[in-house]
Amino acid sequence: MSKKLTGNQIRQDFIDFFVEHGHTAVPSMSLVPGGDSTLLFTNSGMVQFKDVFLGTDKKPYTRAVDSQKCMRVAGKHNDLEDVGRDDTHHTFFEMLGNWSFGDYYKKEAIAWSWQLLTEVWSIPKDKLYATCFEDDSGSVPRDDEAADAWKAQPGINPDHVLFFGRKENFWQMAETGPCGPCSEIHIDLGEERDNLRGQPHRCGVNGECTRFLELWNNVFIQYNLFDDGRLEPLPQKHVDTGMGFERIVAVLQGVDSNYKTDLFTASLEVLRSLTGHSEKEMLADFTPYRVICDHVRSAAFLIADGVVPGNAGRNYVARMIVRRAARFGSKIGLNEPFLAKVAEAVIAQYGDFYPELKKSQPAIFDNLTREEIRFARTVEAGTAHLQNLLSDLRAQPFDQAQGKSPITNDQLPITNHQSPTLDGHKAFDLYATYGLPFEISRDIAREQGLDVDEAGFNDAKERHAKASGGGKAMGKLGGEDAEFFAGILKDLQAKKKLGKDGVEYDPYNGADISRYSNLEVLALVVNGQLAESAELDDPVEVILPKTGFYIEAGGQVDDTGYIKSLPPTSENLGGAGGGWEIEVTGMRRASAGVIVHIGTVIAGQPKVGDKAAAEVDATRRHDIMRNHTATHLLHKALHEVLSDQAKQAGSLVAPTHLRFDFNHPEALTPEQIERVERMVNEAVAADMPVVKVTKSLDEAKKEGAMALFGEKYGETVRTISILETNVSDVGSDAGNKYSYELCGGTHLERTSDIGAFIIVSESSAAAGVRRIEAVTGRGAYDLIHKRFKALKHAAALLKTSLDDVPLRVDALQDEVSDLKKELASLRAQTALSTFTLQLSNIQTVKDINVLGAEIPNADADTLRLLADKFREKHPKNGAALFVSGNTVIATVTEDAVKRGIKAGDLITGIGGRGGGRPNLAQGSLNGDIRQALEKLPKVVEEKAT
Ligand SMILES: [Zn+2]
Ligand SMILES: [Zn+2]
Repeated sequence: MSKKLTGNQIRQDFIDFFVEHGHTAVPSMSLVPGGDSTLLFTNSGMVQFKDVFLGTDKKPYTRAVDSQKCMRVAGKHNDLEDVGRDDTHHTFFEMLGNWSFGDYYKKEAIAWSWQLLTEVWSIPKDKLYATCFEDDSGSVPRDDEAADAWKAQPGINPDHVLFFGRKENFWQMAETGPCGPCSEIHIDLGEERDNLRGQPHRCGVNGECTRFLELWNNVFIQYNLFDDGRLEPLPQKHVDTGMGFERIVAVLQGVDSNYKTDLFTASLEVLRSLTGHSEKEMLADFTPYRVICDHVRSAAFLIADGVVPGNAGRNYVARMIVRRAARFGSKIGLNEPFLAKVAEAVIAQYGDFYPELKKSQPAIFDNLTREEIRFARTVEAGTAHLQNLLSDLRAQPFDQAQGKSPITNDQLPITNHQSPTLDGHKAFDLYATYGLPFEISRDIAREQGLDVDEAGFNDAKERHAKASGGGKAMGKLGGEDAEFFAGILKDLQAKKKLGKDGVEYDPYNGADISRYSNLEVLALVVNGQLAESAELDDPVEVILPKTGFYIEAGGQVDDTGYIKSLPPTSENLGGAGGGWEIEVTGMRRASAGVIVHIGTVIAGQPKVGDKAAAEVDATRRHDIMRNHTATHLLHKALHEVLSDQAKQAGSLVAPTHLRFDFNHPEALTPEQIERVERMVNEAVAADMPVVKVTKSLDEAKKEGAMALFGEKYGETVRTISILETNVSDVGSDAGNKYSYELCGGTHLERTSDIGAFIIVSESSAAAGVRRIEAVTGRGAYDLIHKRFKALKHAAALLKTSLDDVPLRVDALQDEVSDLKKELASLRAQTALSTFTLQLSNIQTVKDINVLGAEIPNADADTLRLLADKFREKHPKNGAALFVSGNTVIATVTEDAVKRGIKAGDLITGIGGRGGGRPNLAQGSLNGDIRQALEKLPKVVEEKAT
């Protein structure tokens, strides 16, 4: 029916045709609709121009043409279930459109679409049909304007102009707002394309078979719809058209499947070369090919628009389609990463028109391959779990007559609501734990005549999102949360790898490496998914049976350190022979009973089941302990020096320093700060024992232990006592308590281990809350060293001893202040002599002695002095103005003030700004001083009465 055009030519033809007719070619907007939070993805050409139709945006053109990238894979418009099953559906597609914003209307739009289809693309005229709107209810007038325009087209069969009702031919943006009739163009593909041939069905335009195909929709926006159903004509009428690109390409290339157009040729070739299938074999099992080509195309465009595989929202969609493509790959024997190879063909096909693909090529390849590898690590375990759930489901009593028979061919069965259905929450667990997206679980279930409850999955997903939103943000790798880790815990408990309390937590003996020298790696989580192993540089979360790493609490920060594989021994043969190392940078309690080491693989390839040693960074931990014990001493000292009301209001215990906030109404005096610092250092020198005892909360409170306001404590609490006497019995805190607090932190054995305590700053943290920052031990030494060095440097510059530096500085300051006085007096003398010289320049204006003088290098005080001098010389009939730099002083004698001359007016009169009393004013002046001063006599003349 037409010469064979390539897809790229067809797209260009469309754009060129409308550009020739005065349209501006507009690039596609991103798949991520900016500023439209109601949409997950751009899903039609309309999205880009919505605000123009609503009247809230204006474009510099009134005619536009574009090819818009669209995704329909989530939300109301979701074509995913049909993708792969048939030849016409896609998750990603292009929408060709021409647009009139209050410019041309039906006549032109219809004529141009007829011309493009029949003349440019030579589609036989007798194959085409046009539909127009005729209201079923009769409340909106029939669109005769469009029908007449169609009937006027050269060579159209007038019997091919048909009318349809609201469902087919009326368009509205929403419940209210812009709307109007539309007019569609359909093509008759011939009897051979009738998929219901021989069966009774409604054949024809908008019928039930595939013989008639809608090609192009022209929407004529002419009404505004109100809530009461009233339609009002819009002052500006618009045209919005949409033609499915893949569809027109299939028609013009004369193929019976969008997937047989040249848009997909290269992708299919890549796949065929990988599987070794002949074309005939491929077409016999076409579904996996269709799904992979479609999904890789979508993924490439998504990644180019910045949407990479992940756990939520758009990123979930990207993850799901990549994983689904990978799974369909395994159905045709592709078990190694292969998606990047298909993507290369996609980029070659589309990269000229959509340059973002070429620009993002490395990111596209990288993301696809990484996601395939991640999925491959868990898919088997996940699928095995799913199979167990599905066989349980099948074993349940169920009316087999209602179930569908298992389908094993390439068809993707459509949902059957009678099918036994897997609980959606269970499907969600499969996703959370094994990264098996809902859509894949559903594919697998349906292949066996079963189904998965989507509403339940979404419900579980929502709860999960809420739970992660409220959880601890630190150390999160992609938003996994409590439920995910609770699932891991359950699994490990079932395998007897963990007891009922989960991971054993004993940070108090954390530095005792021997306790943690032979631990089994129970689980690895990479990028938020369970993994059997991790690679070099992978961010990883590690679960061990027990840990000595402290988890941030009570202001004390996480421990860091290393988890290292053990060399092979007779015990762990076949284990971590290769040697690997994970650097632990943080900790978190991921779920009740689940403690996770957060880190990065810095050597080798850790695997689940390997034996390892977990080593807390002991030096860093020791620094933290010094700061924590010192915090308790500081708390005590503040109570002594200030009052019992100086209660703790927050703290940070880090390896480098400590920060302590406490209630106190005003800044501490230097003396108070010094007393606090001295008191802490005396407690350090006293070498007091620090005793940790666990007891009941009641007992601790009765004994007067300090508890933090607002903190929740359990029945039993850990107490830290610093004793004034030596311990009588091991494990007893009997004796005079210097300090007594409820605290879960890690502490020294004796206070002397703190070494030294230096307050670095005292400041305000909030209203009524003061903050002290201090250093201890090595931090204190570093600070002392640094300060000494500065002092030595100052002494050298001052050519004196360290002790005499303050004396020298005092003497220097005296010297400087004397010099300043001397300089000021010299300047005043100079000003005075300039003034004296200037007195000869006095002019007489209406009997008033007027002087305007520039005095170099004088300050305001000097100028005021000159004003006094002037009034001494001219106690009557005087007006003077002195300028130095930007500063202006004006003075007027009392009698002259009475004649209407005010000092401030003199300043503003010459172009300056300022004011003051009538006889003396100060201000500023910008610009040329001489020119300004020349105006002065005139100002006086105008003002003087
Ligand atoms: Zn038919
Ligand atoms: Zn503490």
